[in-house]
Amino acid sequence: MIFKYIKYAKQHIYKGLNFSNFLSIFAAIYTYYILNKMADDILKKIIAHSKEYGFIFQSSELYDGLSAVYDYGQNGTELKNNIKTYWWNAMVRLHENIVGIDSAIFMHPTIWKASGHVDAFNDPLIDNKDSKKRYRADVLIEEHREKLYQKIEKEIEKAQKRFGDAFDEQQFRTTNANVLRNQEKIDTLTARFVKALEDSNLDELRQIIVDAGIVCPISGTANWADVRQFNLMFETKLGATAEGASTIYLRPETAQGIFVNYLNVQKTGRMRIPFGIAQIGKAFRNEIVARQFVFRMREFEQMEMQFFVRPNTEMEWFETWKEARLKWHKALGFGDESYRYHDHEKLAHYANAACDIEFNFPMGFKELEGIHSRTDYDLAQHQEFSGKKIQYFDPELNQSYVPYVVETSIGLDRMFLSVLSKSYQEEKIENETRVVLRIPPALAPVKVAILPLVRKDGLPEIANEIRNTLSLNYNCQYDEKDSIGKRYRRQDAIGTPLCITVDHQTKEDGMVTIRDRDTMKQNRVAISELPQITESKVSMNTLLTQLL
Ligand code: ATP
Repeated sequence: MIFKYIKYAKQHIYKGLNFSNFLSIFAAIYTYYILNKMADDILKKIIAHSKEYGFIFQSSELYDGLSAVYDYGQNGTELKNNIKTYWWNAMVRLHENIVGIDSAIFMHPTIWKASGHVDAFNDPLIDNKDSKKRYRADVLIEEHREKLYQKIEKEIEKAQKRFGDAFDEQQFRTTNANVLRNQEKIDTLTARFVKALEDSNLDELRQIIVDAGIVCPISGTANWADVRQFNLMFETKLGATAEGASTIYLRPETAQGIFVNYLNVQKTGRMRIPFGIAQIGKAFRNEIVARQFVFRMREFEQMEMQFFVRPNTEMEWFETWKEARLKWHKALGFGDESYRYHDHEKLAHYANAACDIEFNFPMGFKELEGIHSRTDYDLAQHQEFSGKKIQYFDPELNQSYVPYVVETSIGLDRMFLSVLSKSYQEEKIENETRVVLRIPPALAPVKVAILPLVRKDGLPEIANEIRNTLSLNYNCQYDEKDSIGKRYRRQDAIGTPLCITVDHQTKEDGMVTIRDRDTMKQNRVAISELPQITESKVSMNTLLTQLL
């Protein structure tokens, strides 16, 4: 691996470069190598842990797997369902004017013509001729730019340490030669990149990659083929006979199922603008590069909400939803520094504003959720292609119009990865390492584990009674195998917030030991107190009340 970085360093050495300059270039590249490797290692650990503890399995593993498709195991499914509930309750239950639907995956093919997906749902791909690996040209450029940002941040961090309280970040940013040089590179790169995207200039995209010295991470070379467009929609046939069958698509987003049901929901629900329609469901994209585990999949789930508003009010709603969605993420307690906004440089054909909420994944800041102001594009297109009037009569304005739309769209699987990657921790305790998932308790797959100290003397019976009571409200696990220490470790590894141990003393005083996952503290409490203690620890309401 390191050789490809040396090769990269060599490519950047020009005649007359002295040894100390060479060393500093090499040190910088080596730092990248280490950082990349650390990110890789963390991701690898999460992948291995997910498999070992029943969170995520490679799809069709028995047949050597299917690329970028994954199955959720027993604990993964619980965690995923809890994330869905958190989203659904925050969006639908807490908003009087938002309702939820569940539309079909198969839809009339003209819908995708109207939405623009047949003609424009493309990604620019580029092949490296040496490694034969395929990349998304826009992602290569964005990742290169992110590295330049990181260089600036590192420089600032170093200076901050050096100057302490006397450090003036603004002054440093505007005077330090290294920062200025990298900022200029970023600005030039961004300007060219945006223009190339706007002009759909594929040759220029390739040229930017070449000029920036971006190399293939596998071969280490800049031997790039031409950039080509690639449509991401999966096609299939609907109909019994080959002649009579028509081509339909697996939906690449859930949003269109909402748009084509706009009239149904508005009328039957007597909804008044502004109002929203939410949906959770599968989406399919034939991604060119599907790496990084469940971050980029070919079959994935989206949680989307389309908010219908009066024309010219969409920018206010766009800001409102940006804030509301960030608050939803931050309530999980992973630290405000884990999130940032990223405004889109190039807007999609339907949007007049777009912003991503990015999350600091093991591989760096990447898109977790998109908030888009989609104008009246989709409804107007469906009106035109279907020939049916899709309008809203606004009694306050005494006027009809095609509503404008602000969308919030989050990938459930990416959300899952964000939770898992921030929760995964290895801790040294005494002579061993404990792997613990510090999943927010409301999202944890198993809320309570009930453990009889021994498998006899009536302890399993008491433990089962406790389990039966708590199971009415929470997902519980009963475990009687191995030592208590080993059982605690197993529960830590799947993120169970509370463990309850039943021992001989319980038979006499009706008390049990309750152990907290995070502090590892143990307390004696009465069995009768367990429902209330559990509720205060794992209730989803602790998250939801932060959003009110
Ligand atoms: P990207 O730029 O990463 O390809 P996108 O901008 O195409 O994403 P959107 O079309 O805005 O994504 O989709 C909304 C959300 O759906 C994204 O923020 C992401 O969380 C999720 N998502 C999109 N594509 C995938 C995928 N292939 N696998 C998993 N989640 C995805």
